[in-house]
Amino acid sequence: MGFAILYTVPEEIRPAYASWFKVLGDILVRLIKIIIPPVILFTITAAVCTIADLRRLGKTLGLILILYVITSYIAAGLGIVAASIFRPGEGVTLPLPKEYTPPKPLSPQELILYFFKPELYHLFTVKGAPTLILIAIILGIGIVLLGDRGRPIAKFFDIMSDLMIRTLRVIMWYTPVAVFGYAVWLISTYGPAMLGAYGKFLAAQYSLTAVHVLFVYTPIVFLAGLNPLKYYKEQSEPFLVAYSTRSSAVTLPYNMAAAKRMGVRDEIFRLTLPIGATVNMDGTALYQALSTLFIAQLFGITIGAHQAFLLMTMAVIVSAACAAVPGAGPIMLAIMLSTFGLPLEGIAIMLVVDPISDALRTATNVSGDNACTLLISRILGYKPTPLS
Ligand code: ASP
Repeated sequence: MGFAILYTVPEEIRPAYASWFKVLGDILVRLIKIIIPPVILFTITAAVCTIADLRRLGKTLGLILILYVITSYIAAGLGIVAASIFRPGEGVTLPLPKEYTPPKPLSPQELILYFFKPELYHLFTVKGAPTLILIAIILGIGIVLLGDRGRPIAKFFDIMSDLMIRTLRVIMWYTPVAVFGYAVWLISTYGPAMLGAYGKFLAAQYSLTAVHVLFVYTPIVFLAGLNPLKYYKEQSEPFLVAYSTRSSAVTLPYNMAAAKRMGVRDEIFRLTLPIGATVNMDGTALYQALSTLFIAQLFGITIGAHQAFLLMTMAVIVSAACAAVPGAGPIMLAIMLSTFGLPLEGIAIMLVVDPISDALRTATNVSGDNACTLLISRILGYKPTPLS
């Protein structure tokens, strides 16, 4: 359809034609803008309540969270490397939306204060997401500190968190229409150049994710005292399930079964893997950093090297806050884009190739959970001994 418009509609009226298709995608972007603040508030507060509730499992919990954060940071760093090597968004320059105002560069002090926006109305917009994340974490801790009296509220947040994820899924029913609209708009306006950009994006994501798996998980498994070949053999089943279902949550039982086969004790993986499925998403962290830079390149906006640490930190936070369901990554990308002052149209642009991208993200997310679980097992004094 996009190519049909590109080659048959005269150039002068082509933008007017194409803009009708763009509206189909814009609807999704606007719905996501509306839903993001409550999603952040309820899902993050609920996650903090659950994790804090597990405090009694102190050491294991602390260690696994540290390992999860370190591996996610490395993945986000590789996302930046991927964008710098492949430069997937260069060669196409998308026009900035009319209402777009470029952000003014922040000083380091302003950067810190960026997370503490005092105006209440910011909390109801995507722009206020970093502050809202902070408030959700503080609120979660507050609820836990209430002790038994806080339990009904924790339960409420838990139910609301589920409700938000369901609501997102309802909104996602509309995705195929939005993807169709945006794909037609992009192709009819930019032609084959846009296909090339997508191709380079996927090549960048797939190759640097492979680097992450091979050069981060292999040594971790090795340190855990398990033959990496055994890990790759046992992990292949959850990997494929994750690749085809695109949901870490759905893959959880398969990941647990693999951990058991690799000889991790039940009490360890029963704690680490569900938490991992919720907060540890290396594939998603890499994707968030890479796609933020990809969108910046497409719109010809520069994100300076001095912002690399913020980019990695936000990618880690956003990946942790991302729901373990198909297609959650591009929705959470709204937070990245608004943090770096990029047009939110980027979400719909990313949705066009999301099934291919999400499959690998999810497979990587679950593989990371198990690699870290093996190492924690070893650190706790239980060297994984595979069931023969
Ligand atoms: N689908 C991914 C997962 O379930 C999350 C994402 O969209 O990045 O792990």
